[in-house]
Amino acid sequence: MKHRISMLTLGGTIAMTPGAAQGAVVPKLDAADLLRAIPELDRLDIELTAFDFRRLPSPDIGFAVLAELADLIEREIQAGATGIVVTQGTDTIEETSYFLDRTIGGDTPIVVTGAMRHPSQASADGPANLLAAIRVAADPKARGLGCVVVMSDEIHAARYVRKSHSTSTAAFTSPNAAPIGLIVEQELVLLSRPRPCPPLSRGPKLPDTSIGMMHAALGDNGEWLKPFAEHTDGLVIAGFGGGHVPSRLVPTLAELARAKPVVLASRTGSGAVLRRTYGYPGSEQDLLSRGLINAGFLDPFKARVLLHVLVAAGASHAEITRAFHESGEIQVS
Ligand code: ASP
Repeated sequence: MKHRISMLTLGGTIAMTPGAAQGAVVPKLDAADLLRAIPELDRLDIELTAFDFRRLPSPDIGFAVLAELADLIEREIQAGATGIVVTQGTDTIEETSYFLDRTIGGDTPIVVTGAMRHPSQASADGPANLLAAIRVAADPKARGLGCVVVMSDEIHAARYVRKSHSTSTAAFTSPNAAPIGLIVEQELVLLSRPRPCPPLSRGPKLPDTSIGMMHAALGDNGEWLKPFAEHTDGLVIAGFGGGHVPSRLVPTLAELARAKPVVLASRTGSGAVLRRTYGYPGSEQDLLSRGLINAGFLDPFKARVLLHVLVAAGASHAEITRAFHESGEIQVS
C-alpha cells in the first residue's frame, strides 16, 4: 500500500528567508519551497499532499490556530492519510506537539518538525529534519506512538520533549526519558513506546481560555499575583525544586486554589513534583493540602497546555485532578 502523507506548514525558521530588516529572517517559504529542498523524496514510495496552513513565527501560534490545525489533521486522517507531518517554528514545538498528542486520538503517526538554522545558513537543518519526519510518518512502526517530534534524527515523544538550547541543532531533549527512537541509515529504529493516554476533547472555549503561569523566584512573595490571577481561568505555579514556594505566597495560592484550578509543577526542567517529603510552609505537602493540583512529571509548559484544554472543555476540579494524575505519571502507592 502506498503511504499517504499530509504535510501542513505553519512557518517557523524552517520556512524563513531574509526580509527587509537588515537581512533578518521572516517566514516566507511555502510547502512547495520546503519540498524542493529534498529531492530524495522522489525515491520514497509515498503520495504527499501539502497544505500551506499558516506562515507564522511560532510564538504567534495560539490555541485558536491549534484547534483549527487539529480539526484539519482529523479531516485528513478521515480522508485516508496514513501519516501527518507538521512543520513549524521550534520555539513552541514542545507545546503544540503536546496539544496535538492529547487532543487527537487514533494510531496515525503525527510528526512535528522544524529547523534551528534557516535555509540561508550553512548546514541548514530543515531539509534533513523534514525528510526524517516524512520517513517516520510513513513508517508503520510509528503507529500508536501519539504525536512525536523529529529533530536531528531523534524521535521524541511529545509528552517529554523540551527545547533546551536557544541555538544548537541538538536543542531538543527529553529530560525525563530519552528519545524514543532514532533514524539510522534512513530507517526508524524504535527504542521504547510511550504509554498511550486517552484523547481529551477540544472544547469550544479553547481560543478564549486564559491560563496564567508563575515561576517561583528567590525573594518574590508574589504580591503582584492576585490582581493578575483574577483575569485567568486557572494557574500553573512552577515551584522551586520538588514544588515549593516562599511561605509568604501560601495564603494567596490557597485562596486562588479555592476559586480556580491551580496546578503545581517544578521549575527545574526535569523530575516530578513531590508529595510527602517536605512539610514546611510553602512545601509541596503544604501546597497540595491546600488544594493545588500535582503536575507530576509534566513540566510547567505542558501542564499549562493540559490545564488549558481541560478548562476549555469545562472539566470539573475532580476531572482535572484525575487527568493530571494520569498525564503526570503519578504513581499511587
Ligand atoms: N523563532 C522561530 C520560531 O519559533 C524559531 C524557529 O523556528 O526555530 O518560529
